[in-house]
This record gives sequence, structure tokens and C-alpha cells, in this order.
Amino acid sequence: MKRVLLLGGTGDALQIARQLGQPHVYSLAGLGRVPEGLACDVRVGGFGGSEGLARYIESEGITLVIDATHPYAAQMSANAATACRATNIPCWALRRAGWTPQAGDDWRMVDGWEALVDAIRPFRRVLFTSGREPLAHLDEIPAHQYWIVRCLDAQPGNERARIIDARGPFEIDGERALFALSGIDVLVTKNSGGSATEAKLDVARELRMPVVMMRRPALPAVDREFDSPAQLLRALNEEMGVV
Ligand code: NAP
Repeated sequence: MKRVLLLGGTGDALQIARQLGQPHVYSLAGLGRVPEGLACDVRVGGFGGSEGLARYIESEGITLVIDATHPYAAQMSANAATACRATNIPCWALRRAGWTPQAGDDWRMVDGWEALVDAIRPFRRVLFTSGREPLAHLDEIPAHQYWIVRCLDAQPGNERARIIDARGPFEIDGERALFALSGIDVLVTKNSGGSATEAKLDVARELRMPVVMMRRPALPAVDREFDSPAQLLRALNEEMGVV
């Protein structure tokens, strides 16, 4: 019997999960909303590293792992590749292409939090659209800066930071309004790729605003890579007879 373990937490992964039936499993870390109405099993929470995942694969009779986590979820991707090697099953991955700079873009590439802090130092009002990491640094905001942090977490800010809890997709008109109302002079983002959160880059280009872009982490080699849910679903159907 074939049993797929789909590692998710992204819109693309949910698109695949909606096509899976029994006995397949959709797995989430447990940070966001748990989707309803899926025909496959849904499990929530970590496995306990690559060894825990390998134990799960064996005890649950998993025959294929699909890593459809976010491109910055590098730990989970590494664990998936290691556990598949250890249990001798294939690992497939959905690796969505990143965005590339266009004419008029002013991207400043950074690796890690310290480089990011250096890159935003010349600016006064910073819009972070890079997840929850800035929330751990709200007490370190320099006196000349005000931060607007858009992420999934609803929590209070402080006198120098406002938190906007919002979930994409984001349309261009809303992004234009956010940029204008918050008076930002720099945008911080990950290079997530895809269309759901791309409008902010269009607005930054319109305004000739600098973008501090967090570089993608290195991801492990896998048995097969796909660049869209449709391509992956086709392979699941044609080669595995799964959907
Ligand atoms: P991470 O640093 O790569 O993973 C941290 C730990 O979370 C993993 O070691 C694993 O715990 C657990 N985990 C992650 N994804 C899981 C999954 N699909 N099922 C079960 N356990 C999972 O990941 P992250 O960057 O914190 O992201 C967490 C989740 O949010 C991922 O599912 C990712 O797809 C989603 N997400 C992340 C981003 C981002 O920017 N990083 C953006 C959008 C969505 P154990 O070691 O205990 O197994």
C-alpha cells in the first residue's frame, strides 16, 4: 500500500492536500490554522527531529514523503531528506521559484538577523513582511526607527512598533494603501516566490523604495523536485497512482 506524508504549512501544500484521500497524511507544524474538510488524515506538531520523523515513517508505513514546506523552513526540509535516506523511501519536494529583481528594483540581499539590522539602519520606518522573527527584537528597536510588522501573530506592539496580524493573499490596492498610510521608507521580506504575496514588490518598485531581501537558505538534495502543485499532482497521479 502506498501512503504519502505531505509536509505542509503553505498555500501550495494545502492545494495538494485537498487532492489527497485516505490513507495519506497532511502534516503541519501547528503554528497556523488547521484546515478543515480534508479527506486525508491531518496531523499537527513536530516529529522530534529527523530521528523522530524516521520513526514516524516506519511506524505509520509511509512510502513517500513530499516536502511542501515554505522555502525558508530549512530545518524541516533537512529533517525530511535525512529521514527518507535513513528509512530508504523517496523524498520529493515542491521548490517554488523565487522572485527575481526587475528594472527599477533596489534589492539589498542579506543573510541573517544581524545583516538585516545593518541594512535597515539608514531608514526610519520599516515594514517587515518576513514572519515573526522581528517580534523577538521589539525591545531593540533603535531610537530613530519605527517598525510595522505584518505577520500571523496577533499581539500588542510597543511605542515604537505596530503589529498587523494578517494572512495573504494580498492585493495591490491594499498594499498601496498600507505603504501610504504607514509612511514606510523600506520593506523587509523573504524571497517566498509565488503570486500571493508578490504585490508588495510591485508597490516598492512603483515607489522606488529599497527592499531588504532575506536570502533563501540552502535546501537538501531530494529525489525529485517540482515547481508547482499541478506538476507534482500530475506525477503523483501518473507515476504513483495516488490521486
Ligand atoms: P523549520 O524551522 O524548518 O522547522 C522547525 C521545526 O518545526 C521542525 O524541526 C519540526 O519539528 C517542525 N515542523 C516544521 N514544519 C512541520 C510540518 N509541516 N509538520 C510537522 N512538523 C513541522 O520551520 P519554520 O520555518 O519554523 O516553519 C514552520 C511551518 O510554517 C512550516 O510548516 C512551514 O511550511 C510554515 N511556514 C514557514 C514560513 C517561514 O518563513 N519559515 C512561512 C510560511 C509558512 P520537529 O523537529 O520536532 O519535527
